[in-house]
Amino acid sequence: MTTATTIDISQIRINSDRLWDSLMQLAKIGATPKGGVCRLTLTDLDKQGRDLVLGWARDAGMTITIDKIGNGFMRRAGRNNSLPPIMTGSHIDTQPTGGKFDGNYGVLAGIEVVRTLNDLGIETEAPIEVAFWTNEEGSRFVPVMMGSGVFAKAFTLEHAYAATDTTGVSVKEELQRIGYIGTQEPGDHPIGAYFETHIEQGPVLEDNDVTIGVVQGVLGIRWFDCTVTGMEAHAGPTPMGLRKDAMQVSARIMQEVVAAALRHAPHGRGTVGMVQVFPNSRNVIPGRVKFSIDLRNSTDALVDQMADEVKAFAAKVAREAGLEVKIELVSSYSAIGFHKDCIDAVARAAAKLGYSNMPAVSGAGHDAVYMAKLAPSGMIFIPCKDGISHNEIEDAKQEHITAGCNVLLHAMLERAGT
Ligand SMILES: [Zn+2]
Repeated sequence: MTTATTIDISQIRINSDRLWDSLMQLAKIGATPKGGVCRLTLTDLDKQGRDLVLGWARDAGMTITIDKIGNGFMRRAGRNNSLPPIMTGSHIDTQPTGGKFDGNYGVLAGIEVVRTLNDLGIETEAPIEVAFWTNEEGSRFVPVMMGSGVFAKAFTLEHAYAATDTTGVSVKEELQRIGYIGTQEPGDHPIGAYFETHIEQGPVLEDNDVTIGVVQGVLGIRWFDCTVTGMEAHAGPTPMGLRKDAMQVSARIMQEVVAAALRHAPHGRGTVGMVQVFPNSRNVIPGRVKFSIDLRNSTDALVDQMADEVKAFAAKVAREAGLEVKIELVSSYSAIGFHKDCIDAVARAAAKLGYSNMPAVSGAGHDAVYMAKLAPSGMIFIPCKDGISHNEIEDAKQEHITAGCNVLLHAMLERAGT
């Protein structure tokens, strides 16, 4: 195309109102009275959302492929279509109390990039693709990040198909029912590089009054179940020195979970979110306490170090109190460092466009975690109000939505070549 030569690529910007309008339109499907969205994966509402997004992609001249786990790929041809596409994407399923932006922003930002390139008649060397990944949220079916996980061969298609919701309906049945079981083998689809734009879902950018988070990686996660076993006894007649109080020992271990995270700042996280006390009676010294431990940090070495410290502390206090403590690993997710070239492309784009930016880490999992196993990958974060997500009050400013999409546009153009 000749028009491209007359355009100063460094000056191009996306259409802010068009992106915002598309977000608001998609948010009507499954809208909740409190201003959020409930669009659980593979429901009729999810089908409506998918249909709407694919319609927009067709209108933008993109070609569509659906794979066997229902991931959708929308492709804008490049000059050299033998090159692997430069991809962006995210998910359009939500939590039961979800918001308008989590995931949806990443998909529609990709569509807006393509619409902008179409408006300006800009051709890229490599093709551009926008993906939506099936069941990122993991609310209706486990595991989370199902579509991207199957795509990256983290688990098998059969494993994902067999997952059932609380009513016993399977993923495969629902994919068939809503007409989104495609023919392409998941993963049979090369990727040149992957970028994902997402609201931060945390308070750091807003707290620092910064527009763009240049995401360096995703925190490694270790989930444990801790069980402390003592002896039930009457709360009155049993003197303090003669008790085997499982709650007292548990409380000390819980404090250590937080202390370990604080010792391994700035990215250490330690959370006890679930506690079961037996027999859970006001005048009985607890004989057994079971609780969850969630540890996170930016490298596997750091998160394993935190786990070792908590385990050593638990063994020590249990020994002193004469109680038994058992800590079992339930799940483990490796820390992900994104690719230097993609991190740099995001940082360069933000700087070039004049947006304030800072390095960021993701405390939550994203589809980009699995893509990072397959191709150079990176993420772009924008602030969300009070850092709140997975909540109907989730909110983001149009200027930030626009900024993140402009950064995506320029980072993708740099990788795709013009
Ligand atoms: Zn998300």
